[in-house]
Amino acid sequence: MPIHHAPNARSAASASDDRVYSDDERRLRRASRRARLLLPIAALVAACVTVPITGRSAFVPFPVEDDKPLGAEAYDEILAGEKVVTSGPAVQQVNRVMDRLVEAADRLGLDEADFEWEVRVLDAPDVPNAWALPGGKMAVYTGILPITQDDAGLAVVMGHELAHAIARHGAERMGQQMLQQGILEIGTAVRPDWAEYAELGLIGFDLLWSRPWGRNQESEADHIGLFLMAEAGYDPREAIEFWQRMNQMAGGGGTPEWLSTHPSHGTRIADIEALLPEVLPIYEGS
Ligand SMILES: [Zn+2]
Repeated sequence: MPIHHAPNARSAASASDDRVYSDDERRLRRASRRARLLLPIAALVAACVTVPITGRSAFVPFPVEDDKPLGAEAYDEILAGEKVVTSGPAVQQVNRVMDRLVEAADRLGLDEADFEWEVRVLDAPDVPNAWALPGGKMAVYTGILPITQDDAGLAVVMGHELAHAIARHGAERMGQQMLQQGILEIGTAVRPDWAEYAELGLIGFDLLWSRPWGRNQESEADHIGLFLMAEAGYDPREAIEFWQRMNQMAGGGGTPEWLSTHPSHGTRIADIEALLPEVLPIYEGS
């Protein structure tokens, strides 16, 4: 489903090791490996942050200062493989909406880490999407502009992406992958015979935890994005119109919600409607 984050900035893959060890060495290595595996889990427990606006507690394994260099590095890598649009009405529109949303984030006290906000327009008429990296680096594909239609529609999408960066969703997802990997490795270290169930465990983990949790992040980005667009002076009711257009484009069908990493359009619209009494006064006062 459109509107998601970019691929992970840092993968949790571990290097393979072909060297041969004696049994003692192997035991020692296993013990130290177990200790090392527990460290990130301890760090996760220690690194509990509160997401602004929604007040949700999140485990993020590194401090917010690390978001900027992490995102900037991934940004250069991703942009190298994309067609960046450098001028024209689309670039002007995206920059105009970005400026207003970043100012709104500042006024709402949502940019305490002082992110280096930056957005690029990527030429891909078939890609109705946008993404944000940790630290405030974003991109909007030209394929979403016919659906956003105007500045308010674009503010729905870009507010959602700013919200992902503000709520540190990419960093949180990396912590979640570390945790998943850690549980798996500790489990198979304690009981090697469980290894054959590891794959099944990962599928279960994905369906019961990762996907619902990804949907929660999407809902949270919608939620915070709505506050951002209202504070920036865009009518939050436009978010309903936007998701109706997305729904029409998808033909009303698509992946069942429980299998998807994104909430259904119907859920998103209902959630936005429920938040309107909170955000309309912000819009009217902006
Ligand atoms: Zn998203």
